[in-house]
Amino acid sequence: HNAKDQGVEIRRYMPAMQMKAKERLKLENDLRRALERKEFYLVYQPQVNLETEEIVGMEALLRWNHPKSGLISPVDFIPIAEESGLIVPIGEWVLKTACLQNKLWQLAGYRPLCISINLSMRQFLQPNLAGKIGMILKDIGLDPCYVDLEITESMTLDKETAFEQLKRLKELGVFISIDDFGTGYSSLHYLKNMPIDRLKIDRSFVSDVMNDTNNAAIVSTITSMAHHLKLKVTAEGVENKEQLQFLRQQHCHDAQGFLFSKPIRAEEFEIFFLKQPLLGMPS
Ligand code: C2E
Ligand code: MG
Ligand code: MG
Ligand code: MG
Repeated sequence: HNAKDQGVEIRRYMPAMQMKAKERLKLENDLRRALERKEFYLVYQPQVNLETEEIVGMEALLRWNHPKSGLISPVDFIPIAEESGLIVPIGEWVLKTACLQNKLWQLAGYRPLCISINLSMRQFLQPNLAGKIGMILKDIGLDPCYVDLEITESMTLDKETAFEQLKRLKELGVFISIDDFGTGYSSLHYLKNMPIDRLKIDRSFVSDVMNDTNNAAIVSTITSMAHHLKLKVTAEGVENKEQLQFLRQQHCHDAQGFLFSKPIRAEEFEIFFLKQPLLGMPS
């Protein structure tokens, strides 16, 4: 598998569903102890405004450094964390850690930026989620306008529950994004009525936008729809200048991808993007 992180190979496990019960249980048990053993850390990936070439934010992404297996991809352990319910405390750790890091960067004097944090289904379904997040932000002293919560289309299937939850989150003052947009179910009716701020175009559409005319049509349509609905639109998985050029022509607002940077540790993020905001930007 080609998933790489700072040159370190990320271990891909078998999909959770194909795993032997014993193996899965072992991983779940290891996951259960991972928080207290401090085996998690966050990496950050910059989000860049396509018009000004300025960095406008960063996405926090979870990493698990397993004592025996090494780095395990979130694609493999998030589903297990989700099914076992462990995602709730883990997700809370992510929220706290990401918000604190963002606050620390602001205290260090860097220009305030918005931090994107992925929410899982279980987290999103917690009735007191807005209250919890409100407490975290208050404790840390971070202005909610610098927090972006990423949810996926599948989390809004139960329209009423999703609407109420999003309303409570919006009342906090945070930003709401729909991640992996285009890969799940969503009706135009729902897009019009849900209190959301941004669509993130899934990287599967961006990846071969130059060769696949269907993908080009999809990216262009999502972008133009976002403009009409007055939503922000960010492209995920931008890896080359041709894709960047195409997205600029479509007036896509922001982009994220290996072209700018892979997700990196906080210290590196600071050096490459906060101290020297334009370093690493393709000219
Ligand atoms: P996502 O939220 O859609 O995150 C973007 C993923 O695309 C990240 O994978 C990132 O490393 C990868 N990526 C970014 N740019 C490029 C690119 O140019 N090319 C390619 N090939 N990939 C790119 P990562 O970090 O492995 O995370 C995978 C997924 O795991 C995330 O997808 C998200 O759904 C989930 N995840 C990660 N961290 C968390 C977390 O803290 N909480 C929850 N609930 N889920 C998380
Ligand atoms: Mg995301
Ligand atoms: Mg995702
Ligand atoms: Mg995504």
